[in-house]
Amino acid sequence: MEVPVAGPLWDSHFPGLMAWELERLRKRARAVEIDQPKLAKGLLVVRFEWPFGESFLALEASFPSSYPFLRPQVRLLSGREDWPEHHVSPVDGTVCLLGRDTAQWSPAYHLAKLLTDQLENALLGDGAEDPQAEPADVWWNGLAPLPDSYCLVDSDWKFDEESQGRLDFFYVLDECETPRIRGVIRRVLADDDTVLAEWSGPLPAELAQAKRRISVRWYRAGHVVLPHEPVVAQLRELRNQHLGGLGAPTSVGKNLSVRPFVLVHPIEKLGGGHVEGWIFGLEWGTPRAFGKKGRRADHGIKLSFLPILRAGSGDLHQRVPDAAPLRGKRVAVFGVGAIGAPIAIELARNGVAELRLVDHDIVEPGNSERWPLGAASWGRRKTEALAEHLRSQFPDVTIVPVHHQLGHSSEQGTDDSALALALVGADIVVDAMVSSGVTYFLWDRCMRQGASLVKVGATPTLGGGSVVLYVRGGGCPVCLQYARIDESVATPPGGGETPLGIQPPGCGERTFTGADYDLQELSLQSVRLVVDTLREGKQSGLVQTLALKNMDGERILPRWSEQALPQHIACCAKPDI
Ligand SMILES: [Zn+2]
Repeated sequence: MEVPVAGPLWDSHFPGLMAWELERLRKRARAVEIDQPKLAKGLLVVRFEWPFGESFLALEASFPSSYPFLRPQVRLLSGREDWPEHHVSPVDGTVCLLGRDTAQWSPAYHLAKLLTDQLENALLGDGAEDPQAEPADVWWNGLAPLPDSYCLVDSDWKFDEESQGRLDFFYVLDECETPRIRGVIRRVLADDDTVLAEWSGPLPAELAQAKRRISVRWYRAGHVVLPHEPVVAQLRELRNQHLGGLGAPTSVGKNLSVRPFVLVHPIEKLGGGHVEGWIFGLEWGTPRAFGKKGRRADHGIKLSFLPILRAGSGDLHQRVPDAAPLRGKRVAVFGVGAIGAPIAIELARNGVAELRLVDHDIVEPGNSERWPLGAASWGRRKTEALAEHLRSQFPDVTIVPVHHQLGHSSEQGTDDSALALALVGADIVVDAMVSSGVTYFLWDRCMRQGASLVKVGATPTLGGGSVVLYVRGGGCPVCLQYARIDESVATPPGGGETPLGIQPPGCGERTFTGADYDLQELSLQSVRLVVDTLREGKQSGLVQTLALKNMDGERILPRWSEQALPQHIACCAKPDI
């Protein structure tokens, strides 16, 4: 009697699929062999020889548990020296058969079809495969380096005429069994102390304040260095090959010494040229382990490496060219509540230079469901809590919190002193407050200054809302009222209604009941309008109107419309400028 073999779960979901796969594979492959121990654990791994040119290639295919929705992985079993330069992982020989995602894979395919269609292209590099630069950082960082650790570098650094020197590594350290080190290369020096490169980008707060420094020797390899297993042995070889003498360890903790070394190597860039690659090797152990002499010298000393993260100014904001108009710009946001706070966060995330945040409110627990930050901010001034969050997450943005209620004077300041902080030099202003008086006031001040004003607001029942762009020479807030009366501009649903509202305990009035996920529709459109206005320097006002509900108050898919907002013939509020 045949012993039943446990197969993959997918084969019981799609009975016969495994037999179908293997039958097709055997038609072209020879020496097909199933890994029985893995099959008993529910994984299908097949080794076989596949025709390639005049000969056969030894391959191994692993079917994921998510097969057939996700494709099998195929790797070369031949010696590393035979692997081609591209589309093969230097670590384990996995062949990149279908680009980086699975979009080109279809559950109707099978392994034999995948190999027939793609293997030659991938290995010979002359087919329709994605063009690809050798992703050396990806290979290295993927190989279990020190956890929760990193070394920051700047991709703009280039000093390929220099072959060795020292560098200043500033760091913070968590002394655990396996140390966690987060650091930045602040300066790269040549042997004669010429400064070759210097850090100029933003840093996380803990690193900006880091005082601890190690001077590390660096050497250049003339060619790209790709990792292979066992990577510790490879690192040791690189260290011995380039470092010459081992050098003295540095004591960095109560019972921890480290001995770092850095190898710089050229990484190919897509489209030609090279960028400096970094391998930051790190030996660590007790001072006693480093003190041992002779044959047991390496005993008790561990060796690993830091993941390399690219965080120079040029590395940070190159992936969203659409947001480029925000660079170097100063934006004032009046009202950092449910609509304004997400606007501020999005502007900071996308690389605005400076944000001025004006509000007088504090964060209440009951309002947290309409605010980006939760319980950790309860009781704090919204401006301060948001400023702290933004500074820690987006250290390249200057944040100016202005705690002030427009229309009130206090010991802390007047409207004029608040506006002096918020408005002067602002390139564009966002009004996310719920006060038409404030809008008139800000419109007047902005037009005098020549700054555009984006006014965003929801209707009381949140049937919709609008985002309005006011520019010099365009319509004003009074023009907008006339335009809505004569219907040259749309009125958002729910404009004239009084919401049923909920009056929470301790609250003086019925509160707005809209949801954050609806309000953010308005926040995000405001950000788009800010970016577009900065890019195009819009010459005329416009109104973007959002409908979230229909005339019967039923939810619809968010629907936007847009109309121009010229000066209205009935309006006399001409700007005095
Ligand atoms: Zn007007």
